[in-house]
This record gives sequence, structure tokens and C-alpha cells, in this order.
Amino acid sequence: MKKYCIAANWKMNKTISETKEFFRAFLPLVRGLEDREIVVAPPFTALFAAAEEIRGSAVRMAAQDVFWEEKGAFTGEVSPAMLLDAGCSHVIIGHSERRQYFSEDDVAVNRKVRAAKKAGLEVIMCVGESLDERESGRAFDVIKRQVETGLTEVSPEHLVVAYEPIWAIGTGKTATADQAQEVHAFIAKVISGLYGDKAGPVRIIYGGSVTPDNVDSLMACEDVFGALVGGAGLKPESFGRIASFKKEN
Ligand code: PEP
Repeated sequence: MKKYCIAANWKMNKTISETKEFFRAFLPLVRGLEDREIVVAPPFTALFAAAEEIRGSAVRMAAQDVFWEEKGAFTGEVSPAMLLDAGCSHVIIGHSERRQYFSEDDVAVNRKVRAAKKAGLEVIMCVGESLDERESGRAFDVIKRQVETGLTEVSPEHLVVAYEPIWAIGTGKTATADQAQEVHAFIAKVISGLYGDKAGPVRIIYGGSVTPDNVDSLMACEDVFGALVGGAGLKPESFGRIASFKKEN
């Protein structure tokens, strides 16, 4: 049985003191939930404080991005080893906001994924189509290209693929459970094509306006093994409820 992965992406939100305040309220809400992996991704500046707060708990920490080089003259960038040093076990790579605002393409995503995995980080690689790509019938082609290029020469262990339809991110428009399941089943097929019978450990999680109200029905989908949460991951009570999802069957 694969462990569900429930991750909060804080994006460019929360100071150090807000980070401490979050964890002091959040950790008691998820104590004992050890059948699932709960991950929080603070901004770089709050990683150290977050690591101190989660020490001794089962909650894990992700960075929101990483660079592929090990060290050197790359102003503003952070290496995989630096993230491990700060206490991260995971890293989010290829979020649609990085693709949109920072021109990250599939080849850059792949370089980051390979470097992060080589260093021992668990990777959450994001894929997903825009509204225009969905409406023009190109969603599956786009997602296949993102998955196949992003995972070139990448092994299936310690790998999470987050399906995040761009039209559902921060918009309040969640994919229905059926829409999510359709794409997750497709991604599972693409991943089987890449890894054959070694595809087992790869988890495909859903992101896009996940809330306490819709999490249970999304997690009931056959090929959905967790959630990547933006807005609702900023509040201890809402993320606590999402992390405590109940599997409907
Ligand atoms: C995200 O940005 O990864 C995300 C899913 O955001 P939200 O939950 O706010 O739609």
C-alpha cells in the first residue's frame, strides 16, 4: 500500500515568526497520522525555523525549488545539498508558476529532478495543462510531454508527480473527482510506459483548489495518492483537516 503524500506549498508567504506560529498550531492537529506523509514547503527564508519546529514530529519539509548545479557562481540559486543541510527531505520542482513566471521548461525541470534525486531528495514534480490547452484538446499531449521529458533518465524511487491543472490553481475551480481520476489514470499509464513493472513506488497526487470540503472525494479516486495544496495549506486548521482526510470507498 502506497503512503498518501499531502503537501502544502506556501509559495511566497510567511515570515519566520508566522512559520513558527503555524507549526505550533498545526502539529497537534496531525499527531499520530503516520499512515500518510505530510509535507510543508515554506519559502527558503523560513526553512531553518521550520526545521526546528518539526524536529521530533513525523511532518517533513520541502523546498519550493532547487538548482541543478552543486555549487558555484549561480547568484540567487540554492543547491540540493543546501536544501538537505537546511532539513528538507523533499523538493517541489516544475510548479506551473515557475514555468510561467521564470520560463522553466521541461528540460530545466528534468535537470533539477535529476540533481535533486541524485542528492537524495524526494522530488514532487508538477505537471498540468492550461485552460487553453484543455479546451483545445491538447491536455493529454502536454501532460505526456511534461512527464516524459521531466523524467528522462530519472529512476522511479522517491518520486511524486503532482497533477495540477493550471486552471484550477488558486481559482477555486477544482477538477471534479472524475476529471482528476481521468488524468491521473493517463499519467499512471505514461509512467508505466517509462518504468514498466518498476512504476509501483511513484505516487501521483492532485493539486488545484483542494480544500477540507473536497479532499475526501478527491482522495477516493483510484489513482490519486495525495494532494498538493496552495491556499488551504496556509492555515493550520484547514491544512490539518486536509491532512486528516478520510478515504471514502
Ligand atoms: C498550488 O499552487 O500548488 C495549488 C494547488 O494552489 P491552490 O491549492 O491554492 O489552488
